[in-house]
Amino acid sequence: MSDNLFDLILLPTWLVPVEPAGVVLIDHGLAIRDGRIARIAPRAQLLALAATDVRELPGMLLAPGLINTHGHAAMSLFRGMADDLPLATWLHEHIWPAEKTWVDSDFVRDGTALAMAEQLKGGITCFSDMYFYPEVVAELVEASGMRAQITIPVLDFPVPGAPDVDEALLHGLPLFETLRNHPRIRMAFGPHAPYTVGDATMLRVRDLAAEFGAGVQMHVHETAGEVEAAVQASGERPLARLARLGMLGPHFQAVHMTQIDDSDIALLQESGAHVLHCPESNLKLASGFCPVEKLWQAGINVAIGTDGAASNNDLDLLGETRTAALLAKAVAGSATALSAHNALRMATLNGARALGMGEEVGSLEEGKAADLVAFDLSGLAQQPLYDPVSQLIYASTRDCVRHAWVAGEQLLDDRRLLRQDEAALLTMSHTWQARLAPAQ
Ligand SMILES: [Zn+2]
Repeated sequence: MSDNLFDLILLPTWLVPVEPAGVVLIDHGLAIRDGRIARIAPRAQLLALAATDVRELPGMLLAPGLINTHGHAAMSLFRGMADDLPLATWLHEHIWPAEKTWVDSDFVRDGTALAMAEQLKGGITCFSDMYFYPEVVAELVEASGMRAQITIPVLDFPVPGAPDVDEALLHGLPLFETLRNHPRIRMAFGPHAPYTVGDATMLRVRDLAAEFGAGVQMHVHETAGEVEAAVQASGERPLARLARLGMLGPHFQAVHMTQIDDSDIALLQESGAHVLHCPESNLKLASGFCPVEKLWQAGINVAIGTDGAASNNDLDLLGETRTAALLAKAVAGSATALSAHNALRMATLNGARALGMGEEVGSLEEGKAADLVAFDLSGLAQQPLYDPVSQLIYASTRDCVRHAWVAGEQLLDDRRLLRQDEAALLTMSHTWQARLAPAQ
């Protein structure tokens, strides 16, 4: 009998598995056992099963947890500190000096905790982090119950916690061993950008990534200026240089890619590299527009990220997905570009694939980990409701996120965080605000 006992059965009004594409299941639910989706079936069949707990989710859409493929979690503490500036000024005159002054392991601990809480409340069950003190981030992710890709920061100049690349790798590499079989954490490399990482370092990252079977995430072609400067200096576009150095492959995650010509598309196609689209960061820094529809049509996997809270300024992947869907149409000059279903796919399964987690999460399929979000579509703003996915992408905000589970464990219940103390997070944020504000 115990073999047939399920831990939890969820019975939503709509179930959107994402795979197969474009499907909305009505009068269906799923059963969870040992952290995995054990059964997806019609409601009547599920009700005949034995389960420890059965939950009705009336008016709710159950979908895979959202996957935020690019961010700098601890930068949540810099939210709103330097707005309305171009990328180079923002980085050189504001962000890098502030990081030099303030970022230590305490900053990363507190900023990451705040970012994780914000993300989970917005339906994000898995995020990628590119920041300093990855060992601190790993501890927090472990304790939070969330899923994450954590990248080792690699830059050819001193950064908080690591005066040089050797030191960054010295701290970071042991994590690949200790977390090798971790069920929720995947370590990767985060060389910052082509213009901050030289060839020698790039080759080290390439070889280490191959050795550990790890992903590599990098900001690439974020602005026209970046591409122009590289072409002027070397005659080579940054993506072409990465290809020549052997950096590209299905493990490579190119963040931004707002500047794309046909040669870039060919390189992405040949290599199987992924594009991580961060539309709101690109809009706010006036960096340019990633041609999502063109990439999608070329068969390139495009996922979505918020980027850091210092350049967005929220970690709201549902909002980001709506922006992406709207922007894709404007950039393509076609209202048929990036449908609501494809936008949701970009925020879930495409994200999982980009992070090398496509076999584990990103869609509701039997055997995958039970990373789930229940969106409440019963509010006035979502009525009348003809198409729940359209309503989710075009007419809902992250406030409609009611519950979230990671690997079958509920982490958000009726908008309440179960593993984090929201009052303590607010107090902590106010303390940092008081400390950082005089520097403004
Ligand atoms: Zn970024």
